[in-house]
Amino acid sequence: MRTTVLTPHLTQLTRLAMMNAYLVREDDGFTLVDTMIRGSGAKLAAAAEALGAPIRRIVLTHGHADHVGSVDQLRALLGDAVEVLAPARDWRIVTGDRALAPEEGTNKLRGSWMKVATTPDTLLSPGDRVGSLEVVASPGHTPGHVALLDTRDRALISGDAFSTIAGTTVSGVMNWRFPLVAIATWDAGRAAGSARALRALEPTLLAPGHGRAVRQPSAAIDRALAKAGN
Ligand SMILES: [Zn+2]
Repeated sequence: MRTTVLTPHLTQLTRLAMMNAYLVREDDGFTLVDTMIRGSGAKLAAAAEALGAPIRRIVLTHGHADHVGSVDQLRALLGDAVEVLAPARDWRIVTGDRALAPEEGTNKLRGSWMKVATTPDTLLSPGDRVGSLEVVASPGHTPGHVALLDTRDRALISGDAFSTIAGTTVSGVMNWRFPLVAIATWDAGRAAGSARALRALEPTLLAPGHGRAVRQPSAAIDRALAKAGN
């Protein structure tokens, strides 16, 4: 597990050189954003411990298995005092209900979904706050995908709305040097719309689910949006 301190509030944790989770520092300890694939829990917990604060809550950006994979293990390791928060829309899918609402169109769900034993303490909707983080709607990669904007410094934890491996790329745009995110994307058109909305937040830092963080990312996002036909 590689640990990269990005800002005084934000640390990136990376496994296998391609998969990120984030520790967001709050007054009472850390908020962990995403949990990587199954089997990463002990490493994530150890990374927080090495940084000297407990994990108080776990927030998930979306329901794919490489983001929710270690929730159960972390719950077992850290106990029920750790609050688990997940986007309400995606959690319906995680619990087995794959039906789409009429307004969500007819695209098939994609990517890897797994059964999770943990029941979230809180189901999130866009506009909710989690400590310093604002929950921002960003559907497209999955129906209920959310990004998290740190209101202290406008760092944006984007989940899979963007990836930055082999260049900043909007979810749903095929990047043959790292096709995983596009292959797992449910609705590329909605993902492009969400990317545009996230760009309008004028983030100071883009912290993606896959790839390095990008500082002052607006120009890189604009180039990515141009490739997305936006
Ligand atoms: Zn994903």
